Amino acid sequence: MRVWTIANQKGGVGKTTTTVALGSLLASQGKRVLMLDLDPQGSLGSYFSHRPEDTGQSSYDWFLPADQLSDERLMQTIVATQDKNLSLVPGSTALATLERSAVSQEGMGLAISRALSRLWDKFDYVLIDSPPTLGVLLVNALAACSQLIVPVQTEFLAIKGVERMLNTLNMINRSRRQPLSFLMVPTLFDRRTHASVSSFRHMRKTWGDQVWPSAIPVDTRLRDASAQGVTPTSLGKDSRGMQSYHFLLKTLLKREKEQEQSVHLTEGDA
Ligand code: ADP
Ligand code: MG
Repeated sequence: MRVWTIANQKGGVGKTTTTVALGSLLASQGKRVLMLDLDPQGSLGSYFSHRPEDTGQSSYDWFLPADQLSDERLMQTIVATQDKNLSLVPGSTALATLERSAVSQEGMGLAISRALSRLWDKFDYVLIDSPPTLGVLLVNALAACSQLIVPVQTEFLAIKGVERMLNTLNMINRSRRQPLSFLMVPTLFDRRTHASVSSFRHMRKTWGDQVWPSAIPVDTRLRDASAQGVTPTSLGKDSRGMQSYHFLLKTLLKREKEQEQSVHLTEGDA
């Protein structure tokens, strides 16, 4: 099971859209995919016309003490979607109450890692959509993943969020055996605007290969999809946004393969 986290300490940059797009593409390639929403806003579910109030199922339960989270209860938080192989755990406003608890509190930063380890044979990929604020939820999302994807809106003020995110990453890396592999993904790119073009150039100049050399374009069909409960895969090939996500997925899979090979080599040396 591979775990990818989609995060940026800024809202409205395309985190949820990226989660849903990559998740549905992986599922359409036959991978068993779980999308986990750790954002109290719970917007991931809206793509699938799911409202947490409907059932009470949410990722909040994943933070329950071990003796209260039975396998059955854990499985009950997982909701099937209309897409084959694609499941989701919705977020809920209750998640916000967790942000006030301390990460240092007994094992609190590893709640998600622990719950995921119980699902290792059920899914091939888990994609975690995370909140824009640094707290227990984001720390959990970062502790649980092997790849971090940072969508960055191509506009003038985008850089601030990235700097906050990189500081957080440094902090997380201090407690990891291997630094977390991450890729910044320019989003909401509009080549007709100066803001988009110059911020894309600035990103590449500042962070080099840590930035995906392409960008996800503004695509109104992608924007409308969330409101209409249409999954991105059903938009098909004529969506420019989805074509780009397809290309991004290829890059991510390639990076993952290279990364796993290098870990393999290092362990072989030891
Ligand atoms: P976040 O999860 O970071 O807050 P979202 O994925 O919800 O960001 O995106 C913010 C808004 O921008 C949403 O209304 C979404 O539909 C829209 N959006 C995201 N990506 C695109 C895109 N490539 N083209 C057009 N609209 C987009
Ligand atoms: Mg979101």
